[in-house]
Amino acid sequence: MILWGIEKNKLDEGELRHVTCPKCQSKTSMSYEVFGKYLYLFWVPMFPIGKKKHLECDTCAEQFQLKTLPKDIQQHFKNRIRTKYPLWYFSGIAISTILIYLLSVLFADREIKDQNLIDHPKIGDIYTIKVDKTKEHINDYSSHYTLMKVIDVSNDSITVMYNTKTVKKVYKSRLIDKAKFYDSTFTNRFSLQKLKEYYETKYIKVVNRS
Ligand SMILES: [Zn+2]
Repeated sequence: MILWGIEKNKLDEGELRHVTCPKCQSKTSMSYEVFGKYLYLFWVPMFPIGKKKHLECDTCAEQFQLKTLPKDIQQHFKNRIRTKYPLWYFSGIAISTILIYLLSVLFADREIKDQNLIDHPKIGDIYTIKVDKTKEHINDYSSHYTLMKVIDVSNDSITVMYNTKTVKKVYKSRLIDKAKFYDSTFTNRFSLQKLKEYYETKYIKVVNRS
């Protein structure tokens, strides 16, 4: 459910003096009200989408929108009355900016942590990897991710054991991290350099160490 809409509120009011009313032709003043309109999403104002300026002749009480009045009155109004949008009209933008900033810090932090685990692998580390269609032990290609578990680490290489199950989402990969799903006959040994490549090319999506 998305709750959004357009709301308005009065930003300003006052008197515009020394104008000639196009209706009654008297030299007069007009009362004005300026309304601001903003878009809201989940009750939070996101950004302004315009202003409406109502005027009323103080002599004959005729009502006008500023844009329907003669150009010289419009100019006169613009010279005298400058109504700014209040800052709270931009609350949504402020909140989104803060959220995006926090998320980016969080992800950057996680990447540094994963990189560190790749640089210093340990027995028991679990990598969520993209399903590799050349691996014959996998029989379900409809899903995209599986696991490989580090079972040996030497100076320049590691040995991994593959999981036989697959999942559609990276975050679900923890569900298949069970001993019975690993096949001890499907292992692979590759260099630490290769491990870094796998991580850099995003073949390895996530690193887990318990
Ligand atoms: Zn008038």
